[in-house]
Amino acid sequence: MVAAVLSATACTVEQQSVNRFDFNLFPEAVEWQLGDQLAAELADSVVVVDDEAVQTYIQGLGEELVAHTDLADRPWVFTVIEDPSVNAFAIPGGRVYVHSGLLEAVVSEHELMGVLAHEVAHGEARHATEQLSERYGLVLAGSFVLGQDPGLVEQIAAEIVAAGVTAKFSRDDEREADRLGLVTLAEAGVPPASMAEFFELLLARQDRRPSSVEQFFDTHPLTADRVADVRTRSADITVGERRPEDPAMLARIQQRLR
Ligand SMILES: [Zn+2]
Repeated sequence: MVAAVLSATACTVEQQSVNRFDFNLFPEAVEWQLGDQLAAELADSVVVVDDEAVQTYIQGLGEELVAHTDLADRPWVFTVIEDPSVNAFAIPGGRVYVHSGLLEAVVSEHELMGVLAHEVAHGEARHATEQLSERYGLVLAGSFVLGQDPGLVEQIAAEIVAAGVTAKFSRDDEREADRLGLVTLAEAGVPPASMAEFFELLLARQDRRPSSVEQFFDTHPLTADRVADVRTRSADITVGERRPEDPAMLARIQQRLR
């Protein structure tokens, strides 16, 4: 039985090149199930922006990026929620949430894609379920792989929600998300410096209105050094055919949020 658990687990981690050497006990299908469960729980505490044009817009930009990841074949969901603070977060199972305040703060579509690429990279690298794997360890190993405990996903979802749904990522995870995100941007034809531009906007806001960016800084430790690293790296990445921006479209979406 132990051998079965180990081989099945090894199989899930080897599927994706990004995650090949990382410890993760969640098979992808279970992670996506957890995402559905979390999204349902989250629906009680957030207000989703009730505007199809806004949601279609963010979903479209997100999917452009996801197409260049190792998890392109999974159903990702991008959602704009009503919240004036400048924040975005990823939960397990390819779900990315963007605050309306962030959407209003960005000055360009590519800058918006810069932050989306960072969140998508947390999802692609499966940082949240890696953390959970470490926390729950052996409790999960048998149950998920052998399918013994269907209630476990619900139980874990409830515990995550009770603890605050957004995981705080480590500095290593942040660095990995930055680097993966930069590559994804370049492959999508977006100048990778767009991510640095968004981070610089956050740092500037932290000086002026710290409370408006507090949550972002809380879950994604961001320092001037890290932003400088992103800037330097983005200069070394070759971008393919440049993706055209649609400033009028962004302006229309921002208008709808006001
Ligand atoms: Zn992050």
